[in-house]
Amino acid sequence: MRTPRLTKSIFLDQFLFMQAVGVLIGVSFPYFLVWYGFPEAQVMHWDFFIVTQIAGQMVGLVSFLLISTVIRPHLKLLSHKMQEIANGLDNKSFLDQNARCEEGFCRIEVMSNDEIGVSAHAYNQLLQALIQAHEVERVYNRFSKVMSENLETDSLADRTLDLLIESTHIEAGAILVVQGGELDLIASQGILNAHNLTMHDVVVRTLKKGKSTHLILPNNIDLDGVLTEFKPSEVFIEPIEFKGVNLGVLVAATGAHPSDERTEQLIQLFSRSLGLALNNAMIHSKFQKLAAVDGLTNVYNRRFGMERLKEDFSRSVRDRSNLSLAMVDIDHFKKVNDTYGHLVGDKVIVLIAAIIKKALRDGDIVVRYGGEEFLLVLHGASCGDAEVVCERIRHQVNDTIFKDGDQQIDLTVSIGLVSYPEQMSGNEVELLDKADQALYHGKQTGRNKVVRYGSLKAGIK
Ligand code: GH3
Ligand code: MG
Ligand code: MG
Repeated sequence: MRTPRLTKSIFLDQFLFMQAVGVLIGVSFPYFLVWYGFPEAQVMHWDFFIVTQIAGQMVGLVSFLLISTVIRPHLKLLSHKMQEIANGLDNKSFLDQNARCEEGFCRIEVMSNDEIGVSAHAYNQLLQALIQAHEVERVYNRFSKVMSENLETDSLADRTLDLLIESTHIEAGAILVVQGGELDLIASQGILNAHNLTMHDVVVRTLKKGKSTHLILPNNIDLDGVLTEFKPSEVFIEPIEFKGVNLGVLVAATGAHPSDERTEQLIQLFSRSLGLALNNAMIHSKFQKLAAVDGLTNVYNRRFGMERLKEDFSRSVRDRSNLSLAMVDIDHFKKVNDTYGHLVGDKVIVLIAAIIKKALRDGDIVVRYGGEEFLLVLHGASCGDAEVVCERIRHQVNDTIFKDGDQQIDLTVSIGLVSYPEQMSGNEVELLDKADQALYHGKQTGRNKVVRYGSLKAGIK
């Protein structure tokens, strides 16, 4: 049952009701005494009426004061804290308070199991949910920035792992994507032998089925073949999907701290959003590759090669590091075209490109410089190193027999070689010209040979 409202303040209403009860007690008390047997002459008196009236009012007042001191402070605290949070949300300063709130400043101690205690508990829970939602939103905003600022798959994956580890209980992670039909590791942190993940049963199954896997690892148990730099307690394996196609997998492991709701929420948000971002990054890199690569041979085209050469030359000047250039030209190639046709000529060009690529180290660059001419940019290679590589290529071509049906085509190449800083040059074009001169000399002096620019006699230069 609800009492009627008299004023806008519940406490003032309470006070008025208490006073009314006091008046009622004061008025009825003498009659009660008469009924109880007290002599009427003694109690039915104005003086006595006034005394009982004052006593009734005092009881009302004391009851009200007790309510005000016992109940009101708790309600005041609750309303004050709620007001503080509400004000913070209004003027967007909640984020600043957030850090203090996380340390427990905004929480209320639950001191009873009645409605006030239940309200305090509910307030704490709502506050916790609010802080978490706010924190998730804040991290997600940062993640959106990472996605829009990183167009390359590798940097996108690296930054994503950085952020996940920084803002959750995750301590190690890896991102794997399917490239050219194979699962490749594109980023990892805190995982030893992370490459083993590409063959790991659970990872492969998650990718195939597109369903998340959450492993809780008992003490002393590690994932087969994959060891984190610490003892993992949980491992999340989330598929990364875009438009129904599974693009890859996000692996995340917690260490000493088990995962909390925020960690799980962020892992799922990250893996879901990564689908679109990774898809964009892969399309971007495909276009970049198309713009940089020669369609026939799959080595860099001349425009991109010249840009890279310029960068590498500047780096060598800056670091005083070696840079060797080799110009490779197929001997008597016109004859191949004339005798067997252009299509066979194309196949020969592809074969020579493959032989060259196989002979080089990872950081070396092959450029299709002209029709059947290749430029090799060997950063860090001295003239001696480069000569060994060039001789290997020359021998390999010489020893390869190209077959077109019954016909056998013997192939040879001539190579002109120059090295910086052994041969000082003001810029990369000058250096390239020296490699060209060495090649020209090789052609003039019988072909099927490697000629170092430094070995040319002054007269021939
Ligand atoms: P040399 O030993 O002096 O180098 O003689 P060469 O016959 O190889 O002469 P050169 O290097 O000048 O020959 C280039 C020839 O390569 C001319 C052109 O018909 C042919 N060529 C250029 N690009 C292509 C191509 O993409 N495909 C084919 N099949 N032939 C090409
Ligand atoms: Mg030629
Ligand atoms: Mg040529």
